[in-house]
Amino acid sequence: MIKKVRVRFAPSPTGGLHLGGVRTVLYNYLFAKKNQGDFIVRIEDTDQTRFVEGAEKYIFDCLKWCGLEPDESPIHGGPCGPYRQSERKSIYLQYAHQLIEQGNAYYAFDTPEELEKMRSDFKTTENPSPQYDAKVRMKMKNSLTLPAEKVKELIASGTRYVIRIKMPEYETIRFHDLIHHEVSFDSSLVDDKVLLKADGMPTYHLAVVVDDYLMGITHAFRGEEWLSSAPVHILLWKYLFGLGNMPQWAHLPLILGPNGKLSKRDGAKYGFPVYAMNWTDPRTNEFTEGFKEKGFLPEAFINLLAMLGWNGGTEQEIFTMEELIDHFSIERVHKSGAKFDFDKAKWFNQEWIRKIPVKEYAFFIKSLFNEKNIPVQDEAFFIQVLELVKDRCMLLTDFVEQAQYFFTAPDKLDKDAVLPKWDASKKEFFELYCQTLESLKVWDVSSIETLFKNLAAEKNIKPGELQLPLRIMLVGAKFGPAVFVIAQMIGKEATVDRIKKGLNIFSQ
Ligand code: GLU
Repeated sequence: MIKKVRVRFAPSPTGGLHLGGVRTVLYNYLFAKKNQGDFIVRIEDTDQTRFVEGAEKYIFDCLKWCGLEPDESPIHGGPCGPYRQSERKSIYLQYAHQLIEQGNAYYAFDTPEELEKMRSDFKTTENPSPQYDAKVRMKMKNSLTLPAEKVKELIASGTRYVIRIKMPEYETIRFHDLIHHEVSFDSSLVDDKVLLKADGMPTYHLAVVVDDYLMGITHAFRGEEWLSSAPVHILLWKYLFGLGNMPQWAHLPLILGPNGKLSKRDGAKYGFPVYAMNWTDPRTNEFTEGFKEKGFLPEAFINLLAMLGWNGGTEQEIFTMEELIDHFSIERVHKSGAKFDFDKAKWFNQEWIRKIPVKEYAFFIKSLFNEKNIPVQDEAFFIQVLELVKDRCMLLTDFVEQAQYFFTAPDKLDKDAVLPKWDASKKEFFELYCQTLESLKVWDVSSIETLFKNLAAEKNIKPGELQLPLRIMLVGAKFGPAVFVIAQMIGKEATVDRIKKGLNIFSQ
């Protein structure tokens, strides 16, 4: 029987959600949906020292914004819960004990001071940071070196201990990765990782394997930074559940910034977002900008992440989620790191701004207007304006500058664009234009424009020379759609007012 595809995203709630994390979610999600499988989110919070208030909720908010809703999670429920590892503490102990009974793990009673001493005693120039491994373990205080009676006694008397995996010496650990193909490790280079901590909590290594098994995970896709942990996980699978039950692995390539792995520091330095949504670390108050608040559409964010390390084998770059589900295959994910390019990211967003009806994202722009106290009364008019300027926007936040003068007079005019060529004849033209506009009966683009052109001809001034001052009066700067369309849309009163104000400013 073919097992139902079940994939998981297993974040530790320790901070903001990096775009690499969202891409991991996305590839898992696409694979699950393509194969009519389940996408599970499991919270890996066994390291209580790294727990950060609010981080879990933030992760789910990000997934919601991205449209990557899990089928099972601590919030969505499901048959394999609890989905928070801290709530599964009692489950892991038996597996740690099983490993000890099998001779694949052992109790270690070394104190922090003894570990420190080991690190300095075994330090050599070739081995500057010695690990707790096959070369060292027989010289330490553990159940491999102490008599069984002593071990029992120490445990019974409440001595603090951890359980460590006993890494085999000189064994080649091999596994197949869907992206990297055949991968192998020399077991002697891996230390005897702690599996169960002194507080009774499992470490990530034990918990991830036990939970992937108990949750029926068939495919484990995660960032390449976990590749070095894979040998420990492969051995745990072998010792506990059998390699035949192990999920298929795929270690996703790193996302690269201007200087190696993309970090949140790169974002701050180069002015681009690195997290899905804004995040303020409650411990340090450090703020990291998010794609959402920067003005990205979730559709664009998903699209650009999909293309960071994968391609569909054709020239097509714009994909909807449905198309991605249709086209995605894990074998087409690249092996080498994918370079993040913010200009390209903005290009994706611009394409999506054009593609989606403005009605669908108008609420976001309206909230930006509200924040700036720019009044928006007429919803239909608002949509009309957004429609008119959308081709000029790469980010949703660009709409503020591109659209605000339709709702409020510019507070500053670009005088430098006008004054060098401003003279008495232009002043006179605008005084007259203003007067005639006031008595214009039909306020439409062609009447406003015809009047302008006729008057310019009468005054013997090229209309092209007058359009720039008019634009600066209405918009404040040298951008925007056709100037007569702007005048028509803001209405007679605002047009006349702004021309009068402009005349004052330019004629001082
Ligand atoms: N808890 C790990 C993390 O924070 C999960 C890694 C994995 O998927 O195995 O990313």
